[in-house]
Amino acid sequence: MSSIDYLEKLIAFPTVSRDSNLDLIRYAAELLGARGIEYRIIPSQDGRKANLFATVGPAGVPGVMLSGHTDVVPVDGQDWTVPPFKMTERDGRLYGRGAADMKGFVSCALAACLKATERTLKTPLHLALSYDEEIGCVGVRRMIDILRVAPQKPILCIVGEPTGMQVASGHKGKIAARARCRGGGESHSASAPRSVNAIHLGCDFVAVLRKRQSQLSKVGPRDSDYDIPYTTIHAGKFNAGVALNIVPTLCEVDFEIRNVAADDAGRILKSLRHAAERIATAARPIAPDAAIDIDVINAYPGLDTPLSSEAMAFVKSLTGANETIKVAFGTEGGLFSRDLGTPTVVCGPGSMAQGHKPDEYITVEQLRRCDEMLNTLLQRLC
Ligand SMILES: [Zn+2]
Repeated sequence: MSSIDYLEKLIAFPTVSRDSNLDLIRYAAELLGARGIEYRIIPSQDGRKANLFATVGPAGVPGVMLSGHTDVVPVDGQDWTVPPFKMTERDGRLYGRGAADMKGFVSCALAACLKATERTLKTPLHLALSYDEEIGCVGVRRMIDILRVAPQKPILCIVGEPTGMQVASGHKGKIAARARCRGGGESHSASAPRSVNAIHLGCDFVAVLRKRQSQLSKVGPRDSDYDIPYTTIHAGKFNAGVALNIVPTLCEVDFEIRNVAADDAGRILKSLRHAAERIATAARPIAPDAAIDIDVINAYPGLDTPLSSEAMAFVKSLTGANETIKVAFGTEGGLFSRDLGTPTVVCGPGSMAQGHKPDEYITVEQLRRCDEMLNTLLQRLC
């Protein structure tokens, strides 16, 4: 079977992050097991989902890891003209949810592992399939916990997120957080000045976010490899209010910080907490319980693999690339790099321009180029 055949199979598993990915994992495990490949399934806490880690080649030797997530974003509310969970091939394009992000790469990686059994590898090839990547690189952490205490850690990781087969050395880190703004006082809107309106607190906090963003864009650390070369702060959700004649007592603001490597997102968050405390303190003469509490919802580190590293040179030599890029989206690579110390490069088929969109597709040509890269990799591992 070719990587296109595997892609057709994988797209047919509707592995939206909120649902189980176990059918896909079982399918991959059966393929690997049938060729005698050793694998380990690492289930989620509730057992509804799982990671899979497989190794082809000699035991006890550190290898090269191909990493991909098996979950996909939902199709709800999107206007698809083809069935999202059944692959459609048309004009050199393969349509289906996850085709680009990132079942295309997973198919090529699976095909490469199966092919690897026909060779004698000196350096092993690892396959690392995760769940719950799309909700903030959540699932892979259980796999990393196990790899961290393994006697050998991978010497190189290729995260196959869609880069159009360009070689990417990094991405920004992210902290997603929720500010819970609590007001108080009299609740009838006719007495509004005797209350602290939680929406006002929320707006004041958003004003802080915007001011901080403006500062960062002017004087913050810069990394010109990114389209937006500085750390960004963004408010994405604002929930408050019950009725017009009631002064709202609770307002929730969801926001995120996406930092370049030279910036410390934790330090920025700390300064935002201080600013939030100042806003709440100013409101306490009217509402003694006024507060803005900030909880981190999710965070992952950025990736910044040195351009001069062996890992970058090696992956460039696999694809024949001269140039490198950094990508705008986050990946599991930051965690592999930070928590395992494994040099990590992002390189995969397809484009994020098609990811997460209706009528998502990958071209046959991109899959072919990925197959070629992995074939070259197999030769090098022999
Ligand atoms: Zn992805």
